[in-house]
Amino acid sequence: MFCPNCGNEVSENAVICVKCGVALKRQSKIVEVSEGKDWLVTLLLCFFLGYLGIHRFYSGSTGIGVAQLLTLGGCGIWALIDFIMILCDSYKDGNGNPLVRKN
Ligand SMILES: [Zn+2]
Repeated sequence: MFCPNCGNEVSENAVICVKCGVALKRQSKIVEVSEGKDWLVTLLLCFFLGYLGIHRFYSGSTGIGVAQLLTLGGCGIWALIDFIMILCDSYKDGNGNPLVRKN
């Protein structure tokens, strides 16, 4: 990630920027850990029940889930796109957080 103050690239685990000394905000990381949805569960739900939008309900995107339920996952295409996005780690849950691989 990058320091919001000086733009210097810093470690993901850094709590302070070594270049300018500003404290780095970590709120998003905490939310991600406590509320992030399981990557594998979402992937499996999308694979087996994606045409019903179940993975969207699970990940908190209820509105999109209803839309996918009514359109049968956009005739399967929408569900397929979501499946690929989950595989590529591009999928975001209802809060805009990435999925978490809990292994
Ligand atoms: Zn800095």
